Amino acid sequence: MPDSPSIFARIIAREIPADIVFENERIIAITDINPQADVHLLVIPKHAYANITDLAAADPVLLAEVVSVAQQLANERAGGEYRLVFNTGASTGQTVFHVHGHVLGTQGRGRELQEGSLAL
Ligand code: 5GP
Repeated sequence: MPDSPSIFARIIAREIPADIVFENERIIAITDINPQADVHLLVIPKHAYANITDLAAADPVLLAEVVSVAQQLANERAGGEYRLVFNTGASTGQTVFHVHGHVLGTQGRGRELQEGSLAL
């Protein structure tokens, strides 16, 4: 657990506003404040594992639930197709050390994610 609540813990606690697109007992999903694609959501387990490795080791069922929520949101918002990214470590771009999956997708024809970059 991090020493102080992460920005996502504060969103879960309703201390900071966010555009919440999904919530159940164990997971919350929000729109990213700085979107990198037409659809850019964050799927966040409420328990503050630092990264996907810790999450997978401690609770693989919860990791599977994160994937299921990602698919559900992509069905609703991105034609059912999505890229799911978990930055793990500062050198890969992880800035919030409370595990979260980036759900990236597009809307409409000719709007394809590029292979050589994270998003568009
Ligand atoms: P990371 O860089 O750790 O993989 O991803 C953190 C993500 O959280 C970034 O894409 C960033 O834009 C997003 N983010 C950071 N602070 C906030 C916030 O206060 N609200 C929302 N909705 N997203 C945030």
